Amino acid sequence: MISDEFLAEYEDILFQIERPSRYIGDEYGSYDKNFDKQKGKFLFAFPDKYEIGISNFGHKIIYDLINKEEGYLCDRIYAPDKDFIELLKKNNKPLYALESKRKPKEFDVVGFGLQYEMCYTTVLKMLELSDIPIFSKDRNISHPLILAGGPCTSNPKPMSPFIDVFIIGDGEEVNIEVLKKYVELKNSKDRFEIIKELSKIKGVYCPIVDNFTQKRIANLTYENHPLNSPVSHFASIHDRATIELRRGCGRMCRFCQASHINLPIRERKKEDIINIAKEYVKNTGYDEYSLLSLSSNDHGQIEDILEALSCHFKSTGINVSLPSQRADKFSLRLASLINGEKKSAITIAPEAGTQRMRDVINKNLDENQIINATISCIKNGWNKIKYYFVIGLPFETYDDLKGIVELIEKVNLSCRNEGLKYPQITCSISVFVPKPHTPFQFARQNTIDEINEKINYLKNLKNSLKNVRFNFHNPKMSQLEAFFTRGDEKVSYFIYEMYKNGAYLESWDENLNLELYEKTSKKLNIDIESTTSREIGQEELLPWDKISYGIDKNWLKEEYNKAKTAVKTIPCEIKCSNCGVCKNLSTKKNLA
Ligand code: SF4
Repeated sequence: MISDEFLAEYEDILFQIERPSRYIGDEYGSYDKNFDKQKGKFLFAFPDKYEIGISNFGHKIIYDLINKEEGYLCDRIYAPDKDFIELLKKNNKPLYALESKRKPKEFDVVGFGLQYEMCYTTVLKMLELSDIPIFSKDRNISHPLILAGGPCTSNPKPMSPFIDVFIIGDGEEVNIEVLKKYVELKNSKDRFEIIKELSKIKGVYCPIVDNFTQKRIANLTYENHPLNSPVSHFASIHDRATIELRRGCGRMCRFCQASHINLPIRERKKEDIINIAKEYVKNTGYDEYSLLSLSSNDHGQIEDILEALSCHFKSTGINVSLPSQRADKFSLRLASLINGEKKSAITIAPEAGTQRMRDVINKNLDENQIINATISCIKNGWNKIKYYFVIGLPFETYDDLKGIVELIEKVNLSCRNEGLKYPQITCSISVFVPKPHTPFQFARQNTIDEINEKINYLKNLKNSLKNVRFNFHNPKMSQLEAFFTRGDEKVSYFIYEMYKNGAYLESWDENLNLELYEKTSKKLNIDIESTTSREIGQEELLPWDKISYGIDKNWLKEEYNKAKTAVKTIPCEIKCSNCGVCKNLSTKKNLA
């Protein structure tokens, strides 16, 4: 609720800043629980701007599940933009949580969602703005417990001095478990004893205990999926209802962290998906819904699901989108069921230009499948195609890069042969980042000079193609991502130094201060490029060895060695490759 007291205090400031609705809360679909009547209060802190955070599916799950518990509340806070911070300071006003308008330090637990390594300095700034000590060691029982979840916790070391408790794996059950335990113990034990107790919960890693932990796995049910969520007052990056189809991906592309850390594959039941989609769209009023998964058309019943939903939403103008699709599972039938009348761009991810390179990365996809999927899309009315490629991959040659352009030439040739107009093709080209818990965690990253040479090579080759645009991801940003994701304790000092010197919201290109990185490197005597471009020895101890996603380290080594000679592994959907997850976590894949 936006109260008169809140308006009296903040109205003047809100009128002077860009997008004040980022900071007012009271969105349609948000909870409105009485703060003072709850025994446990959790604040979900998203270290990026509101319009990014409000679209994040993970935070919608946690927000919904905690609020559904009687006696417990979950509020939200997003990273304020610089204009708001300045005016808060100038007017000596505290930062506040979106719904309750309470200060973050009034909560029991403040949980950060670490989606991307470039948000680390923002976490520190948000702690400062909340008047909470930056270092875990400086906090006492009067401060909230600081928790972090999300994919970046796969290597907690760089953020360990700042975070009390890391959540490893799925957060559905463990966040509320930590909150309840904390509330139970906070009046009877000291902070260290509480954290020690929390480290005994499966899926929790506490730096001061440095315990070994295995990830938590949630079953995907109707009950633990949100049927409603806060709808932003203004356009966010994804203005649509999101329904999660499946978690995990058995393709296990060797560079892909999401695929490895989310195993085993769990598919939600067809009936649940259909019912959730109908309910979610009705409750939020969105005119689009998205069926979320690492590869949406891998769901065993995707065509039946789309058929039922397109029939239900027929003539309503409500469209469906599939955010990521496997070209080998793409069919004319599927193409005709997606998006109804609205044919925006469709995305296909070949990742690499040659068959050799696709085998190196274990993409399990051939050229004909990519071309046929593209032609199916064009025949079904799409004239904008988006391809994802990665460059700088281990064992890549210039022939593999040339293969990207040759693949597009073959697509154009097929269009000509079929009498079709050339599509507008956008290639989104990112730079390989070696991520923990993947077979390529051992690989070196290309230096900036190597990547720039590859980018120039591709730009020159592309000149012959008039219907294609290349968008390259910033190589420096990818280098920094690799530096942080592979980092150890030394990287914590780096993050702290950057924060002290003003680094904030760094995932936004305009905020990336490369001079500051250079200065910090010199001051701390850390050469970023020599750490990111180094191949890690297979017998080395790794900063993330205390964290287990169930995958055997020997299996990761074997996969890396297979990549050297472009030997593929059969996807887990078809045949188990004994990665270790099912045995080590006493679980199994669950295909619909
Ligand atoms: S152990 Fe086998 S079935 Fe289980 S996740 Fe690994 S490859 Fe898949």
